[in-house]
Amino acid sequence: MKLSATDTQVQAVVNEIRARGLTEHVSRGSELVIIGAMGDEDLLDASRFEILPGVERVTRIMKQYKIVSRDTHPAGSVISVRGIPLGGKQIQVIAGPCSVETQPQMADAAAMVAAAGCRMMRGGAFKPRTSPYAFQGLGVQGLDYLQTAARAHNLPVVTELMDVRMLDTFMEYDVDVIQIGARNMQNFDLLKEVGRVNKPIILKRGLSATINEWLMAAEYIAAGGNHNIIFCERGIRTFETAYRNVLDVTAIPVLKRETHLPVIVDPSHAGGKAWMVPALAQAAVAAGADGLLVEMHPNPPEAWCDADQALSAEQLTSLMATLRAIASAVGREL
Ligand code: PEP
Ligand code: MN
Repeated sequence: MKLSATDTQVQAVVNEIRARGLTEHVSRGSELVIIGAMGDEDLLDASRFEILPGVERVTRIMKQYKIVSRDTHPAGSVISVRGIPLGGKQIQVIAGPCSVETQPQMADAAAMVAAAGCRMMRGGAFKPRTSPYAFQGLGVQGLDYLQTAARAHNLPVVTELMDVRMLDTFMEYDVDVIQIGARNMQNFDLLKEVGRVNKPIILKRGLSATINEWLMAAEYIAAGGNHNIIFCERGIRTFETAYRNVLDVTAIPVLKRETHLPVIVDPSHAGGKAWMVPALAQAAVAAGADGLLVEMHPNPPEAWCDADQALSAEQLTSLMATLRAIASAVGREL
């Protein structure tokens, strides 16, 4: 309460707390009166208290995210993607092209991804492009190419869902991990729908999303019943223009502390240039990431999308060797 708050104003706040079925704890210091509300905090709307006369400030002690909070699962969760563990001691590298282009491109990419030692594959069939005139992805045909190529090497697939109307098709094609892209991190209707399916979800960080907004977006998915959520840091917007985005390495330990769910990093969309990818990937593993989402292409200069940031097969293979050493230095394995 404000220094100037009267007893009547204090009582009005207490009455409001009781009216919601909670109990109050009033502590009177020599100057300030602090009123605690105990019970189901969800029943309280902070803004209702802020407008009451004499109130100085309303602070939530309980976190707004509950299911995704580490408090509910202090040991940390390991998510199984067709038997491949994500979130445990083993770090998973998910590699593949930005977008699915042709069946031969996907067949080559899958062979290279598997040969490099990666256990999962990515490929976008539905692409969120800045320009409506840019290649938008092959759509359903792309899901088929991706699955055909990946299954030949027993690689589970990750692909982006942009439109809730395609969710049934994703289920028909048995997409192993559904990616919610940065641009859809706060598409709440989409989050609610993927919360109702039993597929792991990679939730990318929004271009300008705070950690709290990101955790709340995950809570939307979790609240629907799907707790298999993987956070993916992919760089955020800042004043800097020398690279595509700024990889927020700090987000890794902060998220690992706040949530029990796995945290992976996409160094490709963060840096935006292939030559930056190894340094960012190494930093991510050193900082405690549970996995990486890396763009590669059988022939990077020919990529239909994000050619600048695609690793070649050789670059991916040599990155895996470096990462193996870093992983073991931090008590993990690749
Ligand atoms: C992607 O991974 O293909 C992609 C479009 O990434 P983001 O949503 O992070 O921009
Ligand atoms: Mn891309």
